Amino acid sequence: MHIILLGPPGSGKGTQAKKLSKHYDIPQLSTGDILREAIADQTALGKKADDFMKHGKLVPDEIILELMDETLALPKYQHGFILDGIPRTIPQAEGLERLFEKHQLFLDYTLVLDVDEQLIIGRLSSRRSCANCGAIYNLKTHPPQQENVCDKCGGSLIQRHDDQPETIHHRLEIYREQTEPLIDYYQKRDVVIRIDAAGNIEQVQKHILSALP
Ligand code: AMP
Repeated sequence: MHIILLGPPGSGKGTQAKKLSKHYDIPQLSTGDILREAIADQTALGKKADDFMKHGKLVPDEIILELMDETLALPKYQHGFILDGIPRTIPQAEGLERLFEKHQLFLDYTLVLDVDEQLIIGRLSSRRSCANCGAIYNLKTHPPQQENVCDKCGGSLIQRHDDQPETIHHRLEIYREQTEPLIDYYQKRDVVIRIDAAGNIEQVQKHILSALP
């Protein structure tokens, strides 16, 4: 199964990708996670991406597509995956289509997570993630048992640099301008399933699973 998860920042793509990954036993492929790891490891890719990410800007399409070309060739991704955070622009979608052909992959579904903006702003400003294992929490709806400590691994919880209020507004603007047109792009390819993503994690997962075969 090859799935794209599309939706604004804070719509739950990362959380739902992790759930789907367990359910279908296929890996999540998150460009945001790969880039954050590259920054932490201070690799050449990390150095190129750091400044864009800090300011909530998109990393240039060529860098993302080169990263995807290398990533899609890895054995781990040969039996399906859930794309989370890619594509984010029309050129990325077109580039990805070429890469799917090159790597002989077939897109099954694009799930569009629909959430209203006010809800997103609330979610993103209370989002925290584990600096060690990447587990995601929400201080209001899914807090850790002990303040600032990850339930899963005991790591410390941090607020992503790009989840600060000014950056959130900027990221939403970019989403509206550059990423939202992709819904139409994939509708033309007849692979879109729209999901009401306003509920809690379990409700959204139920909506997704009942929409998929
Ligand atoms: P995410 O974790 O998906 O919210 O991504 C966090 C940040 O990583 C974004 O705000 C961008 O700066 C960068 N990023 C992740 N994926 C992409 C992508 N496909 N294209 C451009 N930038 C990306």
